[in-house]
This record gives sequence, C-alpha cells and structure tokens, in this order.
Amino acid sequence: MNILDIKLTYKCNNHCLLCCQDDKIKNDKSTIVVSNIIAHIKSMTFNEICNTKVVLTGGEPTLHPDILRIIEIFKNKGFAAIQLQTNLTLKTLLINVNDLVKAGITSFGVSLHGCNREMHENFTGTKESFVNTFNNLVKLSKLRIPVVLNCVISKYNLNSLSEIVAFVAKNHLADSIQFAFIHITGRAEQHHELVPTISSAAKEVQNAITLGNQLGIVVKSEAIPFCMMRGFERNIAELEQLNNIIVLDKKGAMHFSRHREECLKTKAKACEQCLFYSMCEGPWVEYPQLFGWKEFVPVRRVRPYE
Ligand code: SF4
Repeated sequence: MNILDIKLTYKCNNHCLLCCQDDKIKNDKSTIVVSNIIAHIKSMTFNEICNTKVVLTGGEPTLHPDILRIIEIFKNKGFAAIQLQTNLTLKTLLINVNDLVKAGITSFGVSLHGCNREMHENFTGTKESFVNTFNNLVKLSKLRIPVVLNCVISKYNLNSLSEIVAFVAKNHLADSIQFAFIHITGRAEQHHELVPTISSAAKEVQNAITLGNQLGIVVKSEAIPFCMMRGFERNIAELEQLNNIIVLDKKGAMHFSRHREECLKTKAKACEQCLFYSMCEGPWVEYPQLFGWKEFVPVRRVRPYE
C-alpha cells in the first residue's frame, strides 16, 4: 500500500511548543488549491488509486475551508482508505465528527499528548484543547471508526505514558496509541530543554507497551531506533511504514520516504556493525547533535522472543 500524504494547510489552532514546523511556515495562511489535488489524482493510474491510502494532514487539516469537499473528492474517485490526522478540537469550522465520517473519512489519527488538562495543554499551549479533543474522541468512539492516537513524548508526559494508556483504555478512546520521539526542528528546536533522552523515552514506552498488552491497547513507538527497543522490536511503528510515501502540499509532490532516510535521519559509523543496520533509519539528525551517540549501542545478537 502506498501513502499519499496531503498537507492541506500549515495553519494550526493549537500552539504546540514542540511542533516540528517553524513559526514562519505556520504563519503562512495559504492552503493547498483543490484543483492541484484533482490534477494529482488525474495523474494516478487506476491501479495506483486502488493501492493508495490517503492521509490528510497539516498543520491542522480541518482548517482548510474545503475540507469536506476534498474528502468527498477522494471518496468519489474510489480511494478506499482516507485517514484524517487532526488535533480534533474542531472549534474553528462549523463541522463535527459526523460530517467528517459522512464525507468519507475511514480512520482518524488524533493528537493527544496527555491524560489530563494540565499535561496536554502544557504541550499544546492552547486553553480548552484537552476538553475539546477529549469530547470529540468520545463522540468518535460511539461511531466505531478506527482511531490511532499520536502522542509526542516530552518532559511533560515522560513519566506518564502508562497513565495515558490506562486513561485511553478506561474511556475507550482508541484501540491503538503511538508514542513518537520528537523531531527537534522548527518550534521544537527553540524548546529543546523539554526533550528527554531517547533512552529514557524508550524505557517508558516499553512499560506502556507492557500495560497496553494487559489492557488490550496496541502501543507502538515511533522514531526510536531498534537498539533502544530490545525485546520490543515488534512494537516499532516503522516496521509497518511503507517505503512509498508521497507528500503533496501547495508547492507540489515529493517522495518523502527517500528524503526522510537520506536527509532527516542519521546513523553513526558504529551502526555499520549493528544487526539492524539495513532496516534502521537511525535517530532524527538533530538528536545526536544535541545529545551525542553514547546511548546507541549496536545490536550484535537478537534476543529470542518467549
Ligand atoms: S543501526 Fe544504529 S541507531 Fe539503528 S539500531 Fe543499530 S545502533 Fe541503533
């Protein structure tokens, strides 16, 4: 399956301190033009349409004034999987979760960075963002549509990842949650003091995976290399990520998977001795520049699973 990742706008109604996009991009009020989306679809073969999952993202994609029309265009062209990645506050436009599902959204990826108002809003920098997202997640859970929660790990929630999993299970908010290590770029670079070490994040994610197994919630890690996830390798989200991600924004289309591996991630010389070398992209480039390489120990032997 290929991924067509469409950045509908870089505007956002949350003000996350650790957003990987910078203020210059976020202050750009323009949005992708619908005719460019239609032209891209026209350039695709029938076979490509059948084998492509559409991911609508941003910024906050629901701020695009034509969001419902864009979803309907993809549905009517025959795309079977249309995911919306959103903060799900839905405060700016007069649309609700029912409108989005009715238009054609088949799954949601929702940003949730804490299990209470203080933890989440310390991250988002936006009052009422927790209650708005939570209330819409509750509405979504009643529609029985797949939801994956995306939680960025920071010093605000580092010691609460298991608590977040328990909160999600208790309130039936999602079947799956992905804990992502921060890409220290854009606005996140200005707040790098909030970035934990990757090894401490990996330890907490492993505890959260163990609890998730008990509670029936699938917990995955993102942007944490294999050497940090010994014994939990099957929960590394990148194992399922496909090599064919096309990003489309107002400037045009680009092959993102290759760009991520060649420009955004890095490996040390010592990584060449690691058993995971060929499958691992390494950490985000900025991490070893700030924290060094000492946490990354090449894997020489794979531990057997029970
Ligand atoms: S290749 Fe490097 S970063 Fe990746 S798992 Fe091995 S030691 Fe870690």
